Amino acid sequence: MSKRTIKENISMILRGYRLVFQILGRYMAWNIAACLCGLIAPYFSLSMSSLVINELAYSRDAKRLLWLAGVTVSGLFLLNVLNRLVSGRVNVYGSDSWRRDLLFYMQEQNRMQYDHLENPEVTLLREKIFAAKNATGGGLQVLFWMLPPLITGIGNVVCSAALTVSLFRLRVQEGYTGLVGLLNSPAAGIGILTLIILNTVVAVATVNQETCKVSKAWQELAVSNSRYRAFGQAKGQDASIFDIHRLVLREQAKYKKPSYMVKSQKIQLHYGMLRMVWDHVMTFALFVFVAARAYAGAFGIGSFVLYRGTVARFITGVSDVAEALGRLIQNNDPLSDLFRFLDLPDDQYHGGLSVEKRDDIDYEIELRDVSFRYPRSEAWALRHVSVKFKIGERLAVVGRNGSGKTTLIKLLCRLYDPTEGKILLNGIDITRYRLDEYRRLFSVVFQDYKLFSFPIAQNVSAELAYDRSKVLSCLERVGLGARIRELERGIETPLHRDYENDGIDISGGEAQKLAIARALYKDAPFIVLDEPTAALDPLAEAEIYSQFNRIMEKKTAIYISHRLSSCRFCDRILVFDGGEIIQSGTHEELLSQEDGRYRELWKAQAQYYREEEDGRPR
Ligand code: ADP
Repeated sequence: MSKRTIKENISMILRGYRLVFQILGRYMAWNIAACLCGLIAPYFSLSMSSLVINELAYSRDAKRLLWLAGVTVSGLFLLNVLNRLVSGRVNVYGSDSWRRDLLFYMQEQNRMQYDHLENPEVTLLREKIFAAKNATGGGLQVLFWMLPPLITGIGNVVCSAALTVSLFRLRVQEGYTGLVGLLNSPAAGIGILTLIILNTVVAVATVNQETCKVSKAWQELAVSNSRYRAFGQAKGQDASIFDIHRLVLREQAKYKKPSYMVKSQKIQLHYGMLRMVWDHVMTFALFVFVAARAYAGAFGIGSFVLYRGTVARFITGVSDVAEALGRLIQNNDPLSDLFRFLDLPDDQYHGGLSVEKRDDIDYEIELRDVSFRYPRSEAWALRHVSVKFKIGERLAVVGRNGSGKTTLIKLLCRLYDPTEGKILLNGIDITRYRLDEYRRLFSVVFQDYKLFSFPIAQNVSAELAYDRSKVLSCLERVGLGARIRELERGIETPLHRDYENDGIDISGGEAQKLAIARALYKDAPFIVLDEPTAALDPLAEAEIYSQFNRIMEKKTAIYISHRLSSCRFCDRILVFDGGEIIQSGTHEELLSQEDGRYRELWKAQAQYYREEEDGRPR
């Protein structure tokens, strides 16, 4: 556990609670209400019992007794009803808490500067946060679990202290000697106070020791848990073919989960017993003190019952607060990881200029002498790139792996900003525009695009309330119209059979077409396709390409491609090498350049296609 000052610990806990209230405000509010309701009932019951006993023992006024009984029963009844109502609300809002918690992490990640998502240190940090969360609820969960014992504990301390004050004020009758005679002297009060302080110290110290040791025992297990989670994601064919289960089982065997449980149980038992014994010693000492004062005539039997109850509650309160504080302090380690994640700097410049909305989608983007180095990297990924993307143009970007094609797209979409040079939208530096509005200009089909087990229409529109005719027209444009019409549930047909039996499984080519349809639905003026046809067979590829002009309509389309045959239809082809544009022109122009890289690549690939047509092995 990291060493922190008391002030640092408290400010972290408070920040954590501000966050928990921000995410689960209503749930937390109802939780507090439930704690307060639960707190009132025992004190009400204790106070009323004390009054009833005093009445029975001394005045014995039947009318007053009846009245007291009536107030006790109806009061407890009302408190019970209130308790049930409030607990109901806690359950309602609690059922949503896991989802909201997860949503919070997703939102934070989406909001984050893209660079962080590619930073391995941030990936590790995120893993650590989730490992702690899954293993022991470390982070926000613990804060939210500890709130009820903390409130109830503080409530118990305050209420019982308030009701017990008079215990020290009421004097025992004169004439007693020995120890009982000392009860009126300040020494007795100071002695009891010292015991109470000692009790607090013992509780805090044991809880601290216990949580330190338990968390150490769990830390290693957290690593194993995160590996196990990774296995969960690797389910499916890969896991079966390569028998990943064996790897995971061996890995898990190293950690021997039960031994961790036994170890942490032992620690908890050890310290729990220590606290219990000490609590009993305290309770006994206070009981003797209260009983002696009652014996010496300081108060009646009813008050004795009250004080005995409140003193016991005071001790439990102190223990609960100490335990909750101990757990909260220990939780500051995972919490500090979470705060580090949330505090990752956003050093991308955010302009305030609105992107002009143009019906004629007349947007022009220009890269002016752009060079780029990835953060934490010495090598240039792009060097002196100057190019203009004109409206409606079909542009292909080709080149070997690592030549800078994807980096160009990342810069275009402003996932990164150039290290040198500028990118201009209609003549204005793109950093001056509002980032969200600027990004809306782009639709990208990534190489590793994801489709979800939702209905086809939702996959295409990424909306619940989608525009039916627009979905249909996008599917039609990519050539999936006939396939969809065959389906009984049409665009409402779920993809895959994960959740519904009548879902459909689609081929790689169809999936890619669906991804392109999704990009079209967004209706952005620029559409970027990263290896758009990698999963298509030659026939499907030819079908898509022959219709590309119709599919893209007036949009500016940028294709990153390995297959040069796919680029032939483009207005312009940029050939990248080592982060630089080494050639630019139409297919014919580039092919006519005798020693050009394009011609070299084309010849190599043409031979490959010829072999494929000959039916010879590839
Ligand atoms: P291509 O798309 O042409 O295959 P990339 O644009 O992905 O090439 O990569 C260009 C260069 O930048 C390569 O040298 C690659 O190793 C490097 N690179 C790519 N992504 C990162 C990154 N996140 N951090 C550091 N270097 C990167």
